[in-house]
Amino acid sequence: MPTSPSDLPGPGAQDAADHPEEGLADLAVVGAGPAGLAAAVTAAGFGLRVTLIDAGERPGGQFYRHPAPQLGAERPEALHHGWAAFAARERALRAHTASGRVTYLPGHHVWTVVPQDAAQDAPQDAAPAGDAAGRAPAAWVLHAVAGPEEHAVAVRARAVLLATGSYERQLPFPGWTLPGVVGAGGAQAMLKGGLVLPGRRVVVAGSGPLLLAVAGSLASAGARVPAVVEAAAYTGYAPALPALLRNPAKLAEGAVYGGALLRHGVRLLTRHAVTEAHGTDRVEAVTVARLDADWRPLPGTARRIPCDAVAVGHGLVPQLELATGLGCATRRAADGTAALDLDALQRTSVPGIWSAGETGGIAGAQPALVEGEIAAHAVAGRPVPAALVRRRARLRAFADAMGRAHRPGEGWTGWLRDDTDVCRCEEVPAGRIREAVADLGAGDARTAKLLTRAGMGWCQGRMCGPAVAALAGEEQAPDRRPLSCPVPMRLLAGLPPADG
Ligand SMILES: Cc1cc2nc3c(=O)[nH]c(=O)nc-3n(C[C@H](O)[C@H](O)[C@H](O)COP(=O)(O)OP(=O)(O)OC[C@H]3O[C@@H](n4cnc5c(N)ncnc54)[C@H](O)[C@@H]3O)c2cc1C
Repeated sequence: MPTSPSDLPGPGAQDAADHPEEGLADLAVVGAGPAGLAAAVTAAGFGLRVTLIDAGERPGGQFYRHPAPQLGAERPEALHHGWAAFAARERALRAHTASGRVTYLPGHHVWTVVPQDAAQDAPQDAAPAGDAAGRAPAAWVLHAVAGPEEHAVAVRARAVLLATGSYERQLPFPGWTLPGVVGAGGAQAMLKGGLVLPGRRVVVAGSGPLLLAVAGSLASAGARVPAVVEAAAYTGYAPALPALLRNPAKLAEGAVYGGALLRHGVRLLTRHAVTEAHGTDRVEAVTVARLDADWRPLPGTARRIPCDAVAVGHGLVPQLELATGLGCATRRAADGTAALDLDALQRTSVPGIWSAGETGGIAGAQPALVEGEIAAHAVAGRPVPAALVRRRARLRAFADAMGRAHRPGEGWTGWLRDDTDVCRCEEVPAGRIREAVADLGAGDARTAKLLTRAGMGWCQGRMCGPAVAALAGEEQAPDRRPLSCPVPMRLLAGLPPADG
């Protein structure tokens, strides 16, 4: 259960077994990252009763991740830019929690959301939620697991805002399962949340603007960064010059990262990729090769760089399980990922379900804050200020330009050997997936998964999904899973019996 006094559950939450009819929040927000936090405090400011639920122990999500108080960090803001925006909203959250307007539930992982009528039958089947006339149900029930004992919590609310963020896109390469190979965002999370470095000599690789931020943070914290290896070419931004010029603050942010790399003597290799990690007990070196425009390694360009860690990531993927479980429509975003299809008021295609932040397409913390505020206005029935709408459009245009520039080229599968594990949970190598496609006729990722078990392990395809889809010759489709995280059987067994 929540631990600090400000986290005590209020009238919007109770054990599922208790009195399910008591307590109905106006809005339940899933995710206390920039989008969910902004939405919760804005909606509470309009007088709505809000329940804010987050799997993490502290508000802030991925961007405003900060060390646990026990670590005694003197300046937790030192690893962040835009800390003031977070601090103001965290203060507002505390004030609204104290007044009872917001019930904040950290350490609660929502595993499904169902319309109240269907709550008896949770988890929901494949039909989109909402009735045939497109009306929202009177209430939604959000089922969560909480705390180390994994007890059941149910939250009821008239409207739901999904602000569940994203996770890293990983493209495997030979040696990527060696100790010392970590996600680029993971390295950042280790540093921001645990004040530890993944190694002393860290190659930062993959694609996307996060690499510059990560390399800058690692170098400033004392790591040696021999190179940032970026698979895309920055000339990919050229067609989007107008969108770039309308976002001078983003360009300045890029310049700050660039300056940090220069100061620390970090080499930036564009159109290059780490195509292999070497080592026995842990990574000792990487092979870096030059790529063609489709990300195919060019013969004769490989060279070794010694290191004891690799921080690698190829952008982010929207985390959509709860939304797709409800039947919310998706679209293909500029970076190739599937994102929620949202209207101008941040509404999903399912009446009564809103969304903000990375779920609507990878864009960064600033648009997430803006979209959270827009969604809160819409849920409260307030007119959305034109300035917020303009800001969202400007930031989203910049994000699309970034997404297009760093979208993986099709040739990246050329660095996979047949014995490279693609699905690390089920230990399925690339050769077996290629065999399923070439010899057994698997024409899509789902069939490849059924034939090889790739994507059936603990992470449920979050790591290998993009790679299996690419090997099967298609773009990754959003998964439709009834449970968004592992749930103990006793919780499912403890739900009220199915109606009829
Ligand atoms: C690992 C990682 C590291 C990153 N590092 C940086 C960085 O250094 N610099 C940078 O500019 N950008 C970084 N980003 C991107 C940045 O974090 C996002 O742009 C920004 O945080 C988006 O805000 P959001 O509110 O949409 O999502 P998030 O900040 O991701 O917040 C989503 C929240 O939802 C919660 N959640 C998800 N599913 C559930 C569920 N089922 N039940 C309950 N809670 C749930 C999560 O715990 C999380 O707190 C990183 C992203 C990732 C994935």
